[in-house]
Amino acid sequence: MYELNNKLKKIEAYDPIEGNYKIRLDANESCFNINEKFGDKIAEAVKGLSLNRYPDPAASAVNKAFAELYGISEKLVTAGNGSDELISIICGCFLEKHDKVLTLSPDFSMYAFYSELYELQVVSMPKGDDLRIDVSKVIEYCNNNEIKAVIFSNPCNPTSLGLKKEDVIRLVKGVSCLVIVDEAYMDFWDQSILDRVEEFDNLIILKTCSKAVGMAAIRLGFAVATPKITNALRAVKSPYNTDTISQTIGRIILSEKDTLQKFRDEIVESRKELQEAVNELALKYTKFEKVYDSVANFVFIKTSAAKEIHEKLLERSIAVRYMGGYIRITVGSKEENKAVTSALDEILAGM
Ligand SMILES: *Cc1c(COP(=O)(O)O)cnc(C)c1O
Repeated sequence: MYELNNKLKKIEAYDPIEGNYKIRLDANESCFNINEKFGDKIAEAVKGLSLNRYPDPAASAVNKAFAELYGISEKLVTAGNGSDELISIICGCFLEKHDKVLTLSPDFSMYAFYSELYELQVVSMPKGDDLRIDVSKVIEYCNNNEIKAVIFSNPCNPTSLGLKKEDVIRLVKGVSCLVIVDEAYMDFWDQSILDRVEEFDNLIILKTCSKAVGMAAIRLGFAVATPKITNALRAVKSPYNTDTISQTIGRIILSEKDTLQKFRDEIVESRKELQEAVNELALKYTKFEKVYDSVANFVFIKTSAAKEIHEKLLERSIAVRYMGGYIRITVGSKEENKAVTSALDEILAGM
């Protein structure tokens, strides 16, 4: 009889919230559907594609559009089937079985997920009470414990907090291991180290089209690193990892700098509103123990009533993310922000 190996026996498929909720603030997606503005342009481009042909394995055109948007050289860019795939490739190929990977918890769950799948040894360093990263502690730990890679998101999902550019650079300079900085949410803040990437031979920066760019549907992410690392990434990825339709849509949308900036600015504006409204709820109700100062597109709240609040919001057809003693609320449109905050006001008043 065929037996699944031990690591597959205990694995469970990723389980996003299912069901039809009127307001979806659970997955940090953009509240703007870019297709409403560029649908015709995309349809026209897709219509002309040779679907019988394999995609461009180098994803040159979309890499170029990405590089131009962020003001970097396309020689430093590798496209992935979502940054998720790039995390998987990095864990699987840049590290060897039993290598130690440092994660800083809480952080994005996929880092530990892929590391464990590739039989790496995951060391999870808890963040302090303030949930911020202690750079000196990370450097010391890496250098004294044979850490082969450290990976973290900046700004962090789920904490919504950010580490300043100078601190990230200090970390990268302070260790000799590989450092993977996941800047999935950096479009909502201004502390990117993308412009410094060529200075460091131990750095990979990850970016995604799933958040500020508003295209979670097409699965497109990017790794940015020196040519040495980039050449290795390009060599080990599966040749046709990004398909022609994603490359085409990505190229079109990433070239729309003004619109992307406008949407991003509106989300940042909307974040301020949501943050302020949630801060006010925290003043009014002791059940909201702490609200973190977000530099991302979501607000993170510490509350012992997280589970109950999550369920009561679902009853009102509002989905947010429940995470142990916390809830994470994605920034929505003005109307969605209003709906979730007034629902919270009602729920908290009744507790
Ligand atoms: C959403 C998110 C991503 C994006 O992953 P994709 O596979 O590109 O959709 C990456 N990192 C973090 C921390 C995220 O929250």
